[in-house]
Amino acid sequence: MHSAYVRVWQNMDLDEIGQHLLIIGELSGDCNNCRKVGIDYNKTFSCPECKTDFKYVASRRPEGLPFHILKKLLESKPSLVFIDFKDFKLAQDRLKAKQVFKA
Ligand SMILES: [Zn+2]
Repeated sequence: MHSAYVRVWQNMDLDEIGQHLLIIGELSGDCNNCRKVGIDYNKTFSCPECKTDFKYVASRRPEGLPFHILKKLLESKPSLVFIDFKDFKLAQDRLKAKQVFKA
């Protein structure tokens, strides 16, 4: 088998992502569910505050994270899915706009 990291577009559940998303920086991460900051993602894959399991990771930096950090993270928990934060935010904003028009 030959494996490599390849970006994938898939139709995703925004609520599910929002509840299980860790937003990572170079040193620590933030929980998207409860907004807890400063989570050491080298030690834990659940939120110390709201206890949610992190299934998705994203980076706020438009150019993404340095690849070695991302690779280390994905190797330590292979079930993690790296998502594009911009895609997620854009989809959320669209959803909010739709809900405003419905109300
Ligand atoms: Zn949390």
